Amino acid sequence: MSLTLDLSRTSAAVPTAPVNLSGLTRAELRQALIDAGVCPPEKAKMRASQVWSWIHHYGVVDFAAMTNVARDMQAKLAEAFTLARPEIVERQVSKDGTRKWLIRTAPGIEIETVYIPDVGRAGALCVSSQVGCTLNCTFCHTGTQKLVRNLTAAEIVAQVQVARDDLGEWPSPKEDRRLSNIVFMGMGEPLYNLDHVSNAIDIISDNEGIALSRRRITVSTSGVVPQLNALGTRTQAMLAISLHATNDALRDVLVPLNKKYNLEQLMAGIRAYPGISNARRVTFEYVMLKGVNDSPEEARALLKLIEGIPAKVNLIPFNPWPGTDYECSDWKTIERFAAILNKAGYASPIRTPRGRDILAACGQLKSESEKVRASVRRAEQAAAAGTVEAA
Ligand code: SAH
Ligand code: SF4
Repeated sequence: MSLTLDLSRTSAAVPTAPVNLSGLTRAELRQALIDAGVCPPEKAKMRASQVWSWIHHYGVVDFAAMTNVARDMQAKLAEAFTLARPEIVERQVSKDGTRKWLIRTAPGIEIETVYIPDVGRAGALCVSSQVGCTLNCTFCHTGTQKLVRNLTAAEIVAQVQVARDDLGEWPSPKEDRRLSNIVFMGMGEPLYNLDHVSNAIDIISDNEGIALSRRRITVSTSGVVPQLNALGTRTQAMLAISLHATNDALRDVLVPLNKKYNLEQLMAGIRAYPGISNARRVTFEYVMLKGVNDSPEEARALLKLIEGIPAKVNLIPFNPWPGTDYECSDWKTIERFAAILNKAGYASPIRTPRGRDILAACGQLKSESEKVRASVRRAEQAAAAGTVEAA
């Protein structure tokens, strides 16, 4: 059998999944409509605009709902593309109102997304950019998991769509939104997936769609210095830096990426971040680890390090997870640390732990196989106890 024959048989045997239009930027959508023969090139801009509005302003999942699109065009769209939402494997609501979804976008690709009310202007959605993470910050649960893969732009946008389906936010509300902010603080390192993250931000912030202002979208990074400039230029998103230590020796341990890009390089990269100003401050995240990085000397070293940068510091009480040796600092210690920063004029809110009862807090997002095992275990326990747990 010839090689050519072999290849053609292989490609014929592998059906390709239809493209989900939700993950395409405006330009990509226009091109996709032309390539699929949905409309001639001269009509593509107008058609793409109509379809865009149905997808991103109205949130429809069915081409038949696009009432200003002719029937035959609806049929062509449905043949070539999909708007289907991913499967929601699990949905949990905490007693404090935090919601968490476990979303399956493909076999083995399970993503956690968390909505936290009363954060930001109204409520923040914490989205993931990767399944797992290649970095292994020693205090982070995600860091103990291998990288499975980068999420696509469609998979990032899908997290926002799923949350808005659940919160009842279609069509895009002009005011009184419950989902007002987005933070890339779920699983993964967003700057290792910048192309998809930046396309997703273009989609989410588009004025004729979900229309979330770029100033309400924050990207958190552990410090991938060479990508900082590109992040700022391409997304104009707000920057958050996972600092956690004020000297290289300690940061090398907590955030091992520091061995590649040390504090001096990191701070220089931050100072050069496009658009930082008093109105667009950088957020420094600082996890409070008992006896590790929580002394008053370290608070003062932190002040020295960030001197001159328009900034606020988010103090995050450490969220313990099974198997970690770290402990969260005492509340008094955290308050003392915050007071030193406050006195120097920095806003330094202590992040209140949210959604702890549903394991929705930072660093607890871990995912799939283990979670599935956990839910099987719960079901077994429930069965043994004579109660039936809803799937
Ligand atoms: N990879 C990116 C974004 C995801 S992590 C980054 O590291 O910035 C989001 C935030 O949660 C980071 O500041 C991270 O340091 C913090 N975090 C991770 N594990 C944590 C834990 N167990 N307790 C508290 N914060 C944690
Ligand atoms: Fe990855 Fe961020 Fe966790 Fe570090 S803190 S392991 S970069 S997800």
